[in-house]
Amino acid sequence: MAVFSFSPELVELSERALGLCAPKFAEFDRMADYNGQRVLKAFIDNKVSDIHMKGTNGYGYGDDGRDKLDAVFAQILGAEDALVRHNFVNGTHAITTALFGILRPGDLLLSVTGEPYDTMQGVISGEGIGSLKDFGVRFDKVDLLADGTPDYDGIRQKAGACRMAYIQRSRGYSLRPSLTIEVIGKICEAVRSVNPDCVIFTDNCYGELVEEREPLAVGSDLIVGSLIKNLGGGIAETGGYIAGRADLVEQCAFRLTTPGTGKEVGASLNQLRGMFLGIYHAPEAVCSALKTAAFAAAMAELLGFGAFPKYNEKRTDIIEALTLGGEKQLVAFCQGIQAGSPVDSFASPEPWDMPGYDSQVIMAAGAFTMGASIELSADAPLREPFAVWLQGGLTFPTGKAGIMTAFQHMLDKGLCRISR
Ligand SMILES: *Cc1c(COP(=O)(O)O)cnc(C)c1O
Repeated sequence: MAVFSFSPELVELSERALGLCAPKFAEFDRMADYNGQRVLKAFIDNKVSDIHMKGTNGYGYGDDGRDKLDAVFAQILGAEDALVRHNFVNGTHAITTALFGILRPGDLLLSVTGEPYDTMQGVISGEGIGSLKDFGVRFDKVDLLADGTPDYDGIRQKAGACRMAYIQRSRGYSLRPSLTIEVIGKICEAVRSVNPDCVIFTDNCYGELVEEREPLAVGSDLIVGSLIKNLGGGIAETGGYIAGRADLVEQCAFRLTTPGTGKEVGASLNQLRGMFLGIYHAPEAVCSALKTAAFAAAMAELLGFGAFPKYNEKRTDIIEALTLGGEKQLVAFCQGIQAGSPVDSFASPEPWDMPGYDSQVIMAAGAFTMGASIELSADAPLREPFAVWLQGGLTFPTGKAGIMTAFQHMLDKGLCRISR
């Protein structure tokens, strides 16, 4: 019943990988079952109706669908309130809105998990572009320890003076471990022990619905993410969310629209149905992405490559990093991911000099939604440690076939070997 002509050795290897992953897959299925029920319950409890899918135009006053969507997200995320809008152009914009919504001139923003994600650098400390720094918001950070774990002593030393403590759950383009909900809880405790009143913010990108709880359950005040990642379920066309304490969400809404009007305005146009359907689908999409990541890790390990996290390690986000040993391997792998994508499979990505990077980068994405990383996609900077970061997979059969195509590409070029 073979559809693709993968080599028999690769098919055999994939069967071994699936065997190794079986206990993990059962865990992911249990998580999707639990989170899927929570999502359904949020729809039922909030009495979502077909009229809420319709959307508004113009000023968007009295947009019941928009308010209902906020309530559904709030319940799912364990928040007092949420601001879910297609107007957020990406995750960086949603995070930026939250930072500018809460922080005031003279305040100190303290990152307690090291350097924030690349796209936040300009927002925080750019010069003359309307950054937080331009508005007099100071920045400091507590680096992670050498093993990638939080520096609790360092946090207790510095957090006393900050207005906001900033946590990044996912590792971004590094090989540090992502922070589990349990670890985020310990960070919150350390911050609170010296500063009960500061706002604890968590960049929740890529982490949603991977565990039973979100950071709000363990002491974070505000969480933010993108709808072209986990919570859009591969269906939302664009957007982001901010969720948490109601007073803080209101401040963020004042920044997104205008001080005073906040959540009361903003037409939802034709975006509500996709956002409702997306969050409904999200537990399954996240489950498929987790299976695809664990499968890729198992395949990589069987082929003698490094995988972070390993196939059987605990996960708190959908990211997998594979160290493939060299530039040629990275290029072949990414070209294989592209060739195994539903959209633009016939295109072949090449490394290019991407602004903001000190080496060339190759990116594979053949997605229904431009740049969507809940869909199978891969990026690799061509430098040490020669790692590719991959994520997504809307369904496991297609995610698995994409990963197989990538490794077949490497085999065909003699860039990896299957040992028996
Ligand atoms: C994706 C992501 C962001 C936001 O990135 P956008 O590309 O602007 O959506 C921020 N932080 C982390 C850790 C991310 O993974």
